[in-house]
Amino acid sequence: MRAHRLTTPAPVERNPLRLEQLPEPRPGPGQLLLRVRTCGVCHTDLHLVEGDIRPPQLPRTPGHQVVAEVEALGPQVQGWAVGDRCGLAWLHCACGDCPYCRRGQENLCQRAAFTGFHVDGGFAEYVLAEAAYALRLPSAIPDGEAAPLLCAGIIGYRSLRQADLSPGERLGLVGFGASAHLALQVARHWGCEVFVFSRSEGHRRLAREQPAPGMLDRAVIFAPAGPLVPAILEKLRPGGTLALNAIHMSPIPEMAYGLLYGERTLRSVANATHRDGIEFLQLAGNIPMRLSVQEYPFEQANQALLDLKLSRIEGAGVLRL
Ligand SMILES: [Zn+2]
Ligand SMILES: [Zn+2]
Repeated sequence: MRAHRLTTPAPVERNPLRLEQLPEPRPGPGQLLLRVRTCGVCHTDLHLVEGDIRPPQLPRTPGHQVVAEVEALGPQVQGWAVGDRCGLAWLHCACGDCPYCRRGQENLCQRAAFTGFHVDGGFAEYVLAEAAYALRLPSAIPDGEAAPLLCAGIIGYRSLRQADLSPGERLGLVGFGASAHLALQVARHWGCEVFVFSRSEGHRRLAREQPAPGMLDRAVIFAPAGPLVPAILEKLRPGGTLALNAIHMSPIPEMAYGLLYGERTLRSVANATHRDGIEFLQLAGNIPMRLSVQEYPFEQANQALLDLKLSRIEGAGVLRL
């Protein structure tokens, strides 16, 4: 099979992914062999390829938003059949046994493995999945549009949950990328009033000039900019929640305790659980969710990552096999 392999991370302009011939992987106990149809292109893939994050082992095949078809079953697999449509997300598997896993917080499991990072991902013709972590995809959503649901969509949904959002509440979304765009559709589906604060307006302007749309019940910041935290807390009602969906963030400025007082909650969002994936994909099928995607032929993975880096992609980038 053909797979995009990363052996030496480098700026994506230098085409660090090489298309290589590899033996088709064989599914072990509890595993599925999947034939990839589409795979989304994400900033995490770009960080991996450029060496900002280091996988435990190289070479590696990136890609963690995989839409595929079950090609073969390993021993002891239940609930899946050859030919089933299947989705694969960032969480490849968790240990199932540690205190976090037992509390239902497998996203915090220290022994979790991530697709396209600890194990090979979907920038390939075939990929292995743990059957217990594979996801059913809504039939109403085609292969291209389904791919970005598996990272941006699931994490956007978890962000809404971590923001304690209830139907009908007043929500602020800050920084408008793919995650925010999909979270917006969920919130509207729940009858929420949604205010979007676009990054392009500039953080200082946002803090000073944005007219308050009344106090927000909940808010999510999708931009990695610490100064947004006090700016959004200022707009949050007592008892409200602000969730931060960012892996890294610039320092949060010193702020008056009064911004948090009144039982406001401030929390971060880290990855997502398998349950988040199941719940979100059901919702996405019910809405049904609309996405704009820009498809690339499978061979053009480096080009897709470069376009992502240069913000040249309309909507979400997807490789098609
Ligand atoms: Zn991702
Ligand atoms: Zn665990």
